[in-house]
Amino acid sequence: MSREPTPDPAVVAFSARAASRRAEDTTSLCVSCKLCCDGTLFGFVSVTDEEAHRLRFRLPIVRDVTTGDHTFTQRCVALGAGGCGIFPDRPMVCSTYRCSLLERVDAGLLERDDALDVVDRIRVLVARLEPALPGGDSFWPRTRDFRRAGAPVEELSRRAFALALADLDELDRIFETEIDERLGWEPAA
Ligand code: SF4
Ligand code: SF4
Repeated sequence: MSREPTPDPAVVAFSARAASRRAEDTTSLCVSCKLCCDGTLFGFVSVTDEEAHRLRFRLPIVRDVTTGDHTFTQRCVALGAGGCGIFPDRPMVCSTYRCSLLERVDAGLLERDDALDVVDRIRVLVARLEPALPGGDSFWPRTRDFRRAGAPVEELSRRAFALALADLDELDRIFETEIDERLGWEPAA
């Protein structure tokens, strides 16, 4: 007859403390970051038919006449200084989304401060890119249009264009290796 070994209480307590600290780290990381809500990472968010109906007065949801899909554009209007303004009612895709940075902090593979350094670097690049990008509401489609232009837009010098392109390349590399694939917004033709 075999018996399961009794867990060491000290080990159990240590694991519980570590899990609790990681939960605090991931929460504070997302509160400081918000890249998945502010238009830097995504150009749009998809919602279900039920959510489209339930949130129709709170989010600028549109329906694609061809596919019937419901989406709203980023930067999200529900995002405020304190985070998501509709947190308890947010769409399922928002409540389940976890980027790679968050996953690694949660798994104890990356320190929260190192994750915040990555977010800070992204913010520096975004701030530097802003003046070089064409006009528009959402950061993501503006970077796409900038790339498509393939040449300096309006008053931008060739040197400023080249520097902005280098920043955009670095931004894409960071997203690819550290966070997630960036998803844009391609309106139906
Ligand atoms: S991009 Fe990742 S770390 Fe930042 S708020 Fe979204 S899930 Fe959290
Ligand atoms: S609804 Fe909330 S969680 Fe979802 S994109 Fe908007 S601010 Fe972010």
